[in-house]
Amino acid sequence: MTIRQPWAGAIVHQTKRVENRSWPLPAKHTGTPILIHAAAQPDKDAEVYGPHLDVYGAIVGTATFTGHHLADQDGTCCGPWGFPLTHHWELGTVTALAEPVPCKGALSFWTPPDHVLLAVQHQLQEAAARLLAAARDAEIARRPELAQRLNHAQGVLARYDRHEHDDETAVDQALADIAAVLAEATPTPPTRKAHG
Ligand SMILES: [Zn+2]
Repeated sequence: MTIRQPWAGAIVHQTKRVENRSWPLPAKHTGTPILIHAAAQPDKDAEVYGPHLDVYGAIVGTATFTGHHLADQDGTCCGPWGFPLTHHWELGTVTALAEPVPCKGALSFWTPPDHVLLAVQHQLQEAAARLLAAARDAEIARRPELAQRLNHAQGVLARYDRHEHDDETAVDQALADIAAVLAEATPTPPTRKAHG
């Protein structure tokens, strides 16, 4: 959905976890991931400052609406971001895109073209893979026995490459060891519900 800056950026880069709208959140958009699109034109009256708020006409992140409620008299039910007497759409998980994906916007909820979806998906997968690799490396660093097994197996491979031995059984064993260590140190990613 399209949101004007700086509000779109306040969601993906700051603490804004409420979207103020004059109508209730449609049930079919509750709990399903959406893309946050920064409109081409800013809200000139908004007083929000910070980095990354000057991106226009692009998908800047993903989010999920978890529910909605009617704001109280002064909107403070949702901290500094809530407006009074509107519908407060509650935002759950929010992910900023490192590289905003340029795209035309539209009113309300809309479906972006496939190439935009693919570009966003690609970025999220790369980010997830980096996180997973970092978590894996941290786990290996935390557990000396894993680091030792990895080191030993890599040594066997290195010596084979330098023709210091020709024991192919040891090489197979080393490859299997490396795979086992990496598998053991890799956290299981949370299973995600299919969407679409
Ligand atoms: Zn509220």
